[in-house]
Amino acid sequence: MRRIVLASSNAGKLTEMRAILAGLDVELIAQSDLGICDAEETGTTFVENAVLKARHASANSGLPALGDDSGLCVDVLGGAPGLYSARYAGAHGDAAANIAKLLSALHGVDEDRRTAHFHCSIVLLASAADPAPLIAEGRWAGRILHAVRGHGGFGYDPIFFDPATNLGAGELDASTKNRVSHRGQALAGLRERIGG
Ligand code: IMP
Repeated sequence: MRRIVLASSNAGKLTEMRAILAGLDVELIAQSDLGICDAEETGTTFVENAVLKARHASANSGLPALGDDSGLCVDVLGGAPGLYSARYAGAHGDAAANIAKLLSALHGVDEDRRTAHFHCSIVLLASAADPAPLIAEGRWAGRILHAVRGHGGFGYDPIFFDPATNLGAGELDASTKNRVSHRGQALAGLRERIGG
């Protein structure tokens, strides 16, 4: 069984990634279980941040590492909040404040100009010095709703509308979201390439 460190301390992500990678000869270990703290996200693209996170986890564990970075890009805002999705409203990870700020930034913007997409980059580094990381990416296109809808998911899910299912992301059950989401798509690509 190949041991791989997940460069994240987010328990939800670990569960989601373990579910999608199930059946592969891979044991996914959270970096927090090895006492490894979060890396600084100083990149200017999702893929750079994913590499920074994975390199930090690999350097501190001596194991291969999986890093990911994701965010929501709103077209009419020039791609914001993008890389800064988690800290859009300041306090890191305050989803309610982020949602309130985004709804207010889009106040008065009509339906057809509310297009947006989630992006996810995932990289697998064989070692901290690996010069050729395996990179998988996913994109989930939709629209920003005018108000919160549904109670599931996390982050911006309550205000993201998925045209493929005709539902809000906050209304999707976990397995449907894993199938259609940016992270689900990136992980499916990764799974294919590491031998699933
Ligand atoms: P990170 O990939 O952990 O850096 O997450 C970046 C931020 O993007 C999260 O804190 C959320 O605000 C947002 N985000 C990423 N993926 C999703 C998703 O699937 N649903 C809702 N928000 C998301």
